[in-house]
Amino acid sequence: MTAGLFTSLFVLALATMFVVQRWLGARQVASVARHRDRVPDAFAASIPLTAHQKAADYTIARQRFARVDRLVDLCVTLGWTLLGGLALAASITSAWPAPWNDVALTVIVAVVSAIIGLPLAWWRTFELEAHFGFNRTTLSLWLADIVKGAAVAVVLGLPLLLAVLWLVEHGGAYWWLFVWALWIGFQVLVLLLYPTLIAPLFNKFSPLPAGDARARIEALLARCGFAARGLFVMDGSRRSTHGNAYFVGFGRARRIVFFDTLLTTLAPAEVESVLAHELGHYKMKHIAKTLLWSAAASLVLLALLAWLAQQPWFYAGLGIHDTAQMARPGVMLNLFFLALPPFVFLLAPVTARYSRRHEFEADAFAAHNASADALASALVKMYEDNASTLTPDPVHSAFYDSHPPAAIRIGRLGSLARESAGGRS
Ligand SMILES: [Zn+2]
Repeated sequence: MTAGLFTSLFVLALATMFVVQRWLGARQVASVARHRDRVPDAFAASIPLTAHQKAADYTIARQRFARVDRLVDLCVTLGWTLLGGLALAASITSAWPAPWNDVALTVIVAVVSAIIGLPLAWWRTFELEAHFGFNRTTLSLWLADIVKGAAVAVVLGLPLLLAVLWLVEHGGAYWWLFVWALWIGFQVLVLLLYPTLIAPLFNKFSPLPAGDARARIEALLARCGFAARGLFVMDGSRRSTHGNAYFVGFGRARRIVFFDTLLTTLAPAEVESVLAHELGHYKMKHIAKTLLWSAAASLVLLALLAWLAQQPWFYAGLGIHDTAQMARPGVMLNLFFLALPPFVFLLAPVTARYSRRHEFEADAFAAHNASADALASALVKMYEDNASTLTPDPVHSAFYDSHPPAAIRIGRLGSLARESAGGRS
């Protein structure tokens, strides 16, 4: 491999990603626009035309936003690599002693990228989301979130970065194996700290109040033999009207969290079925399997990085021509993660498909342990409240969607409901 050939490969991968994403986005817009004037038959009784049209407009507006976002991303990636941004940052920090030169380099890359992304992030929240009535955050809350997020990134990320830089320098030929072990340990630590230390920085969590929903959930947990450290309500309505429910932590530290927005829109039986779906993910070991896959993927990536780090064409092909800069672990790490996305982009449909399979399995679990009908009606309410499109383009959906398209998912729940009704009679 020569540097020139690698540059061509990189440009080809970037161009492919850009063109494929744009084509998929255009397909999605066309599909949603084509079905805008009519609610699909399966939802005609439950979703009014005005809500369906709002979902169409919201989906199209988000696609337009994504188009700008991707263009900015493309320019930022090119700016750091082929146009010499990283080489410039490396020369600015070259006088500092190691490892602080590489820490400073990483901070420059992170801060400059974040500042370039800030206007778009602002626009998404205060124009796009606000236009459709979803935004509840204020400018001061939004700014406070950024400051807190940056503080968490420094407190958690700086020790991690220092440890990684040290391992690359002193770990010998197998430094990447040590970095991998460190990365796994770091992820476990974050999972342990997240529910009790990190999430409360951003939201208030209060115990789920007694009532029909709580009684049903406790009965469901007992029925499925599931112990949790607590049932919590999160004040998601402070920032947005989008609703959700999730599990955090693991082992004895795990919690079940409901967005307050979800509890106000769903009936107790629907809340129960949504939780049964989440329990399904847990019981069918989806969470453990996903963690194992991501651990395997990070091992492969680190082995690849260790090999690339020895190849001069990897640096020279991506805009680093100075041999002193090539020897810096910080340059290697930043360059790798800046250049990686276009090379792994075509794996997105594989992970999306894997995730959709898990969703079907969790739905079947919920149908078995709670109610398929209640889950279907909960999902329909959530589609309406979140303005999710009911008529996505099948190719766009196959490529990106972690959840099955609404019509297919609700259709499967309908047949599960009929099965269990048939079984009972
Ligand atoms: Zn799910």
